Amino acid sequence: MIEDKNKLRTQLSELGEFGLINHLTKGFENTQKSTSFGIGDDAAVLDFENKKCVLTTDLLIEGVHFDLSYVPLKHLGYKAVIVNLSDVYAMNAVATQVTVSIAVSNRFPLEALEELYEGIKTAAKLYNIDVVGGDTTSSTKGLLISITAIGYANEEDLVYRSGAKENDLLVVTGDLGAAYLGLQVLEREKQVYEVNPNSQPDLDQYAYLIERQLKPEARKDISELLRGLDVKPTSMIDISDGLSSEIIHLCTQSKVGVNLYEEKIPLDPTVIATCEEFKLNSTTVALNGGEDYELLFTIKQEDYPKIKANPSLTVIGHIADEKSGIGLVTRANERIEITAQGWNPIKK
Ligand code: ADP
Ligand code: MG
Repeated sequence: MIEDKNKLRTQLSELGEFGLINHLTKGFENTQKSTSFGIGDDAAVLDFENKKCVLTTDLLIEGVHFDLSYVPLKHLGYKAVIVNLSDVYAMNAVATQVTVSIAVSNRFPLEALEELYEGIKTAAKLYNIDVVGGDTTSSTKGLLISITAIGYANEEDLVYRSGAKENDLLVVTGDLGAAYLGLQVLEREKQVYEVNPNSQPDLDQYAYLIERQLKPEARKDISELLRGLDVKPTSMIDISDGLSSEIIHLCTQSKVGVNLYEEKIPLDPTVIATCEEFKLNSTTVALNGGEDYELLFTIKQEDYPKIKANPSLTVIGHIADEKSGIGLVTRANERIEITAQGWNPIKK
């Protein structure tokens, strides 16, 4: 964290646990019909009437999942919420609540947590969800954030990873690889800064990449979009670890194979240009980069006319039988087996 000597630093010990919780959670208003009771008792009370409730959780650890030397705390709070909402949307469900648990070392003043919560509040407002609880404790080292997202869907609207069928089309939203390249740019600038703290980086040309890394958005719009087009995906997953590992999850759980076409993978022009600069292969970046938070799904062939004109959706392949395996058809028309290299903190 960049320490500004002139900045106000209030020690957390001055507030105590309950003072801190009250301070951080004041100003959260419940707007969801399903929130019967939010923050302030031993547990929140939610009411989804006759809907199915979906629930997902993520744990983020400083030094493993984020680096505070280039991630502003406000962005971290925002992103921590977004990555969870993305999982709810990947079930074709509506996200309605989150809980936020944090563990902080005494290195963090109140002002740092205020920034973190500003990001959380911004995301909650924008995505129309209530913050209904959490937990606050200390850590011996660094910052830990665990967010749980809650939502609902009609049973018949839920979409699992396991529903893809032979001949279905494989579709992806948005474009891929930008978030990973944004991280590469930030890592490079960090190294430059360590050598020369007075250097003034010019990051304008990488604005899109850095935004995709630091301030990703979840595809809340896709479920509505598809409903409007009268298309129900047969399977769906969000792209957090990279296209290849998500395709493998989807195919393994659906017991199918796939042909993915390299030339169809949607890439932003900045991704192509920056890959050239970094001497990276753009297909490898899209396949293994991760953190795009786009949605990957399959649809029935007969639904193709309904989606084909939509600029947010790209058909990138088709589902084959299980024994044909998971293949990438290259621009040179060779078929190679896809293996996941996706971001895996356990393997390191
Ligand atoms: P308990 O002792 O039952 O764990 P707490 O005193 O930790 O209760 O929490 C009081 C209330 O504040 C609860 O509603 C809890 O969910 C909420 N809360 C605690 N920490 C946070 C946090 N970091 N963010 C949001 N809500 C929180
Ligand atoms: Mg507690």
